[in-house]
Amino acid sequence: MVMALKSQVQVKQAEIEIDIQGLSKIYKTKKNTFQALDNVSLHVKNEEFVSILGPSGCGKSTILRILAGLEDATSGIVKVGGQEVAGPSAERGMVFQSYTLFPWLTVQENIEFGLKLKGMKAKQRKEISDKYLELVGLERFANSFGKELSGGMKQRVAIARSLANNPEVLLMDEPFGALDAQTKQSMQHLLLDIWKKEKTTIVFITHDIDESLFLSQRIYVMEARPGRITEEIDADLNLFKDGELADVDKFMKVKKHIISLLKH
Ligand code: ADP
Ligand code: MG
Repeated sequence: MVMALKSQVQVKQAEIEIDIQGLSKIYKTKKNTFQALDNVSLHVKNEEFVSILGPSGCGKSTILRILAGLEDATSGIVKVGGQEVAGPSAERGMVFQSYTLFPWLTVQENIEFGLKLKGMKAKQRKEISDKYLELVGLERFANSFGKELSGGMKQRVAIARSLANNPEVLLMDEPFGALDAQTKQSMQHLLLDIWKKEKTTIVFITHDIDESLFLSQRIYVMEARPGRITEEIDADLNLFKDGELADVDKFMKVKKHIISLLKH
């Protein structure tokens, strides 16, 4: 029995692709209707790190909430792992900009929350939370509460909590948007390390061009009113080496191009 549970925990999820085709979203309020997304199509390959980049209000969070199953599409097809998204699932882990730890639980209990819901025994939960506490460098804070942590540390717990559920895909909505520049940078490095180790498929939302170029392999650039994708950028260009900018000319060229797209 223990063996069975153990293998269940360690098993890597099957190949997961994200496929969005012709996605539109219209918000209806009492007074008017608002088209937040117009015919958005995008694809994320298994183990790929993809950013969605665009100005505030272009519908980035809407895409992510629909992917997470927290919101319905008005029309279009949204599939994760070949299955149409029908509602929230632990298999799609979310990390938001605002800190979402349960304040009455310790760091360790926060990380184990989803596992406990699934009925996993304490010993096994601890094995998993220990692993992810170490991965995000918070072993010493296992028994701390959220209010004792800095913003960066809270986001590290949020990432560990998502990963502990062994999600097929990590959906991150401007997770470092509220952090100071230095913490943001160290979190970006940490996230890249984690992605390389865990081989999680990541969809990362940001309005920060440098961040999207540093982290992702591909970038979907969006425009607002109505929210749509204007271009898909290949960012897997060896712009960085060992976490440092390595090809300044190419970086500036791609960055300038993205700036020109965002000006429209
Ligand atoms: P982003 O994350 O890119 O800043 P959002 O996806 O949050 O953009 O929002 C896209 C647009 O849809 C915005 O103009 C926003 O005001 C509108 N919007 C978002 N949620 C709702 C809602 N529940 N009701 C009405 N309008 C909404
Ligand atoms: Mg948003």
